[in-house]
Amino acid sequence: MKIQNILEDLIKIQSVSSNTKECRRIVDYIDTLVKENGLKSKIYENKDVFSILIGKEIKDKYEVLFNGHLDVVPANQKDFQSIIKKENEKNIMYGRGTSDMKGACVSVLTAFIESIKEGVDLDMAILFTTDEEIGGFNGVKYILDNDIVSADIVFIPDGGNNWSICTDEKGVFQIRLTATGVSAHGSKVWEGDNAILKLIKVYNNISKRFDKVTEKDNWKPTVNLGALNGGDAANKVPDIATMLLDMRYPTPYTQKDLEKIVNESLVKEVTYEAISTGSPLHIDIGNKYLKKWIKIVDNPEFEKASGASDGRFFAGKGIPVLITKPISSDPHINNEWVDLDDLDIFKKKIKEWLRSI
Ligand SMILES: [Zn+2]
Repeated sequence: MKIQNILEDLIKIQSVSSNTKECRRIVDYIDTLVKENGLKSKIYENKDVFSILIGKEIKDKYEVLFNGHLDVVPANQKDFQSIIKKENEKNIMYGRGTSDMKGACVSVLTAFIESIKEGVDLDMAILFTTDEEIGGFNGVKYILDNDIVSADIVFIPDGGNNWSICTDEKGVFQIRLTATGVSAHGSKVWEGDNAILKLIKVYNNISKRFDKVTEKDNWKPTVNLGALNGGDAANKVPDIATMLLDMRYPTPYTQKDLEKIVNESLVKEVTYEAISTGSPLHIDIGNKYLKKWIKIVDNPEFEKASGASDGRFFAGKGIPVLITKPISSDPHINNEWVDLDDLDIFKKKIKEWLRSI
């Protein structure tokens, strides 16, 4: 099976997360391909988000689960047509989704199909979703919350650049705070109760509880004040205001630790609700599946990521996640690219890993 041909087809399908029709089309393309190769599949739909589970048989628990997303971020029209250029003796393919992450999805898919044809009898499946770029809530999160599938190890080639292994990702805790007060004329502030000032106070209380972070020393919880809204005139005391905070935290911190900080920082007439959450991800270097992967990869490096991926949902269920990806550009950039030859090597390493389990 030729990685290049399948990838060219996938790049042409404009599966931007919001484009339901094209996301359905890419799932159908994969569905046809795996069925032609004698595999079974099942398509799930939740709130117009499509996911597909692929295996020799469809069940709710496997030893090894591969996960990837087939949706992409928006791009110029020309980026949905792949181009191959020879650069330093390497075949580089450009196009939206080459790096993030249709390229690696094809490596996984071809490794999976070929391994089964070659007699590998491992209890394994693939789950592709189409909403990772907008949070993964109706893809992986929905699948896991509804106990549709589980596994002993999940392999996600969507992080850890150039074969380095991403052992940790920070968890996410985003909240919306709402403050109410009493409106009054700006010239008679004593008659009012300023809602914006309450939020500023709460923010100061919260941020005091976070250590300073720098580029070099960032593996600790962080807080970002993303939005502060309220008021519409200089001469009015605002009686309502909202604030959005984005908190990120590594293991061993938990969401409970952050909730405690927020609760202890609130002042009267300020409430909050969570708008997006996700567990921090951590895989133990001693994990037996990871150990086997490390043996296969030459000189593996390790890294930690402050961003979150769909891996957070598996981590939240206590399922270890192995994250690494082949040689490719940064995600989401213009002129996104992947090293086609390396996709083939990646496929071969996955096959070796499967044989070793
Ligand atoms: Zn991705």
